[in-house]
Amino acid sequence: MSTPVTYDLDDEIAVITVDNPPVNALGHATRAALKDCVDRFAADETARIAVICGAGRLFLGGADVSEFGKPPQDPWLPEICTLIEDCPKPVVASIHGAALGGGLEVALGCHYRLALPGTKLGLPEVSLGILPGAGGTQRAPRVVGTDAALEMITSGKPVTPEAARESGLIDRVGEGKGSEAARAEGVAYARELLAEGAAPRPVSGLPRPAAPADGWDIWEQNLRRKFPGQVAQVQAMKAVKAATEMDLPDGLAEERRLFNELIDTPQREGLIHAFFIERKVARVPGLKDATPRDVQAIGVVGGGTMGSGIATAALLAGLPVTLVEMKPEAADKARATIESNLAGAVKRGKMSDAKRDAALATLTTTTDYGDLKDADVIIEAVFESLDVKKEVFTQLDAVAKPGAVLATNTSYLDINEIAQATSRPADVIGLHFFSPAHVMKLLEVVVADATDTDVTATAFALGKRLGKVSVRAGVCDGFIGNRMLSHYRSAADWMILHGASPYQIDRALEQFGFAMGPMKVADLAGLDIGYMTRQRKGKQPGVVYPQWADDLYGMERLGRKTGRGFYIYDDESPKGREDPEVLDLIAKERAAQGVTPRDFTGDEIVERYMAAMVNEGARILEDGIALRPLDIDVVKLMGYGFPRYRGGPMKYADMTGIATIRDRLNAYEDGSGFWSPAALIDTLAAEGRNFESMNND
Ligand code: NAD
Repeated sequence: MSTPVTYDLDDEIAVITVDNPPVNALGHATRAALKDCVDRFAADETARIAVICGAGRLFLGGADVSEFGKPPQDPWLPEICTLIEDCPKPVVASIHGAALGGGLEVALGCHYRLALPGTKLGLPEVSLGILPGAGGTQRAPRVVGTDAALEMITSGKPVTPEAARESGLIDRVGEGKGSEAARAEGVAYARELLAEGAAPRPVSGLPRPAAPADGWDIWEQNLRRKFPGQVAQVQAMKAVKAATEMDLPDGLAEERRLFNELIDTPQREGLIHAFFIERKVARVPGLKDATPRDVQAIGVVGGGTMGSGIATAALLAGLPVTLVEMKPEAADKARATIESNLAGAVKRGKMSDAKRDAALATLTTTTDYGDLKDADVIIEAVFESLDVKKEVFTQLDAVAKPGAVLATNTSYLDINEIAQATSRPADVIGLHFFSPAHVMKLLEVVVADATDTDVTATAFALGKRLGKVSVRAGVCDGFIGNRMLSHYRSAADWMILHGASPYQIDRALEQFGFAMGPMKVADLAGLDIGYMTRQRKGKQPGVVYPQWADDLYGMERLGRKTGRGFYIYDDESPKGREDPEVLDLIAKERAAQGVTPRDFTGDEIVERYMAAMVNEGARILEDGIALRPLDIDVVKLMGYGFPRYRGGPMKYADMTGIATIRDRLNAYEDGSGFWSPAALIDTLAAEGRNFESMNND
């Protein structure tokens, strides 16, 4: 039987190789085998030094996330790190690819550390709602100092080998790439150490680190400001504090205690859910056997906000782009925007100057649709008007080569109707990017009635090339994301009409964890967007019509871009301050409708808003617009500022209890039907099931 960790000798050097594809995760069997190999090295009289390295893509992965929440099985990772550290002969970690989380903690247990160029070294545990629990919070500050360790542990961000060499996290940057180079470099380093007579150098022998330069209070304040509502960062800071106050064994015990507290939090559950579903979302039911079409060149129609962003995303991925605008000036403007986007990418280190120049050489901006004849995928991003889009698709039908995928970036419109404007509806699909399209990771792939499976597969393959997280959606007004948004925005309007202020709503939802409340988001997007949508949809039965938002539009208060919307934006309050005139407009509408305002608590606001969101999510599932609850969670987490540590709206429903959501909806129902529970919620509650039960393949 093959073992996940092998032991072999290269003269007097023991080479311990972890080989547990795909990511050398430190699950139980791997831990047990690693412990055996370390014990064997300690007892092996022919071996004078050991090298620990990884086979495959990387050194060692972190903990096996699927073991979280289950009873721990010996040997634990902390024990193994201590076992390595206490080894009477030197142990070298030779790292390639990545040493993240548990992998880096094992390396910190080793006495010498080498990493190959391009390796990622980090302790990302806080992004899963936990903290490094195998000595990382105790050893890292002893090795790199308290400030550098706090930065690494509380941000969760990886560092480069060069930076790690600078801070002392590793001893040397090796040469080459891949597992073979890691082994060879590790062995060469071990040979040098032997020649120098190097002794074991346990971190436990290093002095206790000092308190951070700015003091603990400042660190805590900054963490609470940077990660509002989140618990893991401050808890991780407390663990590092223990390293400055206790000897290693006591510090390790304190780290474990703090770690266990986090394991039991809903935030940990939400973050782990987010981690899993972002991987699972790509496994789209029904696409396993489909072959994507070949994509070598992209066409974009419309070079405004979205078109230039989409073109930038394609160029960043190395795909040539032909962009069509209506007028030469508009085409020039689009080119200038794309150039500036790419300059930003160069500045942020995402692209070299040479690559930027090469990418720009493959960009054609034109007013001639005929120039799209070689494009394999053409993405339309013109005005949000069905007539305009149908006209564009008729033109695309005339010029696109056979087999080209014709995609629309519409936010709401009926893609089946757009497809009918062509003679090839099977080639038509929705690719709903989010703004800014070269930055935002979410892509809704909207599959229309006639869309061919290989066109859908092509869309997913393209999404992957563009670095997006793609989610399959079906055709309806607003697909997954915007359809839900319309619904919970209406719930907010309902609460405003009945007595809540827009500011109270924003505060309550920001307290819940949204980066911005819905009125601030509306101000940012522009109140003209909401106005256009209301014009298109008209008044709907049971849905509160926000006349005050129309009034603001009429007063040309369009939000941030005009300095005034729901909030006033000026030098005094660049982030916006409350506007009493908005409250007057709302009061006028309440009076016109004969509504007596009542008080709302923050809790009621959150519960109603979330109940409306979950309810519409359930209807989206009933309608087959989303295939699984996880698709909805990914859309809301990645495109709509839903707090990641809550895992998404459907996870929120599971954690709240489906029966509780149903009861709340029933209690809210006022005869309008707006709040009445979806049949799916009734069924799940009656059967004692949750949304997670629908996520399984
Ligand atoms: P925009 O007004 O910034 O840009 C539209 C561009 O299309 C303009 O430059 C216009 O000159 C060009 N155009 C119009 N008709 C054309 C034609 N027949 N041929 C070539 N070019 C033409 O609009 P936008 O914000 O980029 O939105 C474009 C589309 O993307 C809309 O469908 C919108 O709903 C959707 N969308 C927008 C956002 C967003 O946040 N702005 C997000 C997702 C999707």
